[in-house]
Amino acid sequence: MPIPERFIEELIARSDIVEVVSEYVSLSKRSGANLFGLCPFHSEKTPSFSVAPDKQIYHCFGCGKGGNVIGFIMEIENLSFRDAVEFLARRAHMEMPEDGEDKALRGRRARILELNREAARWFYGNLSKPEGAAAVEYIRKRALAKRTVRTFGLGAAPNEWSALTDEMRRRGYTDAELVEAGLARKGKNGGAYDVFRNRLVFPVIDVRGSVVAFSGRILDDGEPKYLNTPDTPVYSKSRNLFALNLAKRSRRDMFILAEGNVDVVMLHQAGFDCAVASLGTSLTPEQARLMKNYKEKVVIAYDSDGAGQKAAQRAIGLLEPAGLQVRVLRMDGAKDPDEFIKARGPDAFQVLLDQSANHVEYRILAAKSKYDMDTDDGKLGFLREATQILSENPNRVEREVYTGRVAAMVGISKDAAAEEVNKAVKGRYFAGKRQREKQVMRVDAEIQPKGRGNPYDNPASARAEGGVIRLLMTDPELARFTDGLTGEQFTAPFLGKIYDTILRRAADHESVSPAVISAGLTPDEAAQLMQILQAPEDLSAAREILSDYIKKIRESGGAKETVQDLGRVYEAKKQTKG
Ligand SMILES: [Zn+2]
Repeated sequence: MPIPERFIEELIARSDIVEVVSEYVSLSKRSGANLFGLCPFHSEKTPSFSVAPDKQIYHCFGCGKGGNVIGFIMEIENLSFRDAVEFLARRAHMEMPEDGEDKALRGRRARILELNREAARWFYGNLSKPEGAAAVEYIRKRALAKRTVRTFGLGAAPNEWSALTDEMRRRGYTDAELVEAGLARKGKNGGAYDVFRNRLVFPVIDVRGSVVAFSGRILDDGEPKYLNTPDTPVYSKSRNLFALNLAKRSRRDMFILAEGNVDVVMLHQAGFDCAVASLGTSLTPEQARLMKNYKEKVVIAYDSDGAGQKAAQRAIGLLEPAGLQVRVLRMDGAKDPDEFIKARGPDAFQVLLDQSANHVEYRILAAKSKYDMDTDDGKLGFLREATQILSENPNRVEREVYTGRVAAMVGISKDAAAEEVNKAVKGRYFAGKRQREKQVMRVDAEIQPKGRGNPYDNPASARAEGGVIRLLMTDPELARFTDGLTGEQFTAPFLGKIYDTILRRAADHESVSPAVISAGLTPDEAAQLMQILQAPEDLSAAREILSDYIKKIRESGGAKETVQDLGRVYEAKKQTKG
């Protein structure tokens, strides 16, 4: 029985390739967006084995091996596809669709989930008992409504050493189970004591509705301010977000990413039911991809202090590569969303959301702050840098809007500024074009991995076919501009097959990430695809480049020029010369 496509996608999303590969290879070098290490599949002294965290694929420039995380495990653990999927599913704490999973582990997980649910009820129940008084007082001070407390299932961990542990023992749970669930710790004298003490407790509920962990905020001046369940058989903190279970159902088309759980709860109470938080740790790439599964946009609403803004910059660096549109909220005069809403009300926060500075504006303002705008030199320097930033932006509408703003800042007409930006875009396009043409010249040497037969009848067209695929995978929106091109017009059948798959999935708004697409390919085909995706592509003129590629494919359609033909032409030339 085949494994369902959706399960494979979920598995890939939950198996970060950098984490998986790092268990075998030390990825100690960074170059651009990629990490490099010594290839585990061939012997080498300088690293040519690369992993692309944004695309979730690996590729070796030395031996040509490449693919997604499942392919990597197949190769390195010498497993079949199904066994590699099982291997990764165990690692990601995912149940195989049918009973491929180890029964004992499944039993343990079910037991921990049950324990968590009972503990959550017990914490909640404490709010109406004397031992919950401190938590109730905190809830009152923060002005959290009863309904909010119930929606989130908030609770109280009493200021005692083993209140929860004692209660759960009475209900038949062992100390070992409490420790494995992350609710208790082993004491020096062999006993167990509560992890959460004197805290307001936030259950962490996964998208399936199970209580998988807890997060506790201290109720006095103690440290740490937030305490979170460590990784357990049912929970991995890098693959969950606080309140995602609620926020994923929100009708708003974005997530609001807040710093702490209290912010999230306050935002939901104020009607912003799309708020989530990263659970104590700083944001992870997996969390970014998790968000991308549900929505396209994220607004970062971190604290407005220096630490919060630095964290926001870090978050941008993770969210954008995951394909999310990122904006950053500026809460002037308030330190966090809670304070802002309390002082100015939800409507003012909505206005803030509407006009939140997006990433482009952020970069332009950062550039502006570097120059003395009172001098001509300063204005010129800023204009040069701002047009560069704008020329890199693939979104035409955004480019136009911000060109107008930059013009106003410098005090020139919008047309003049637009001309500067267009010059920069064209410069990048032509520089890229020369580069692309050079690549076509080198095509034979470059396109085929060493030690494999040439799979392409027409290398020049195959280069363009690969280019189309690369562009569409980077920006599926471009599928609208493929001008009726079909996979049948491709000279390389397997590239045509990939192209058709991308068009179909893009039309259905399904993921076209390399990791997902390569799941349906043979190892050799996957390696070819990885090779294709390695070439850089400048997205600022993506539509022009796309139509260049399409033209090339159409020109070579029908007239398949084979490598053998090229060889004969070369031989003939030599003979006429000699
Ligand atoms: Zn290699």
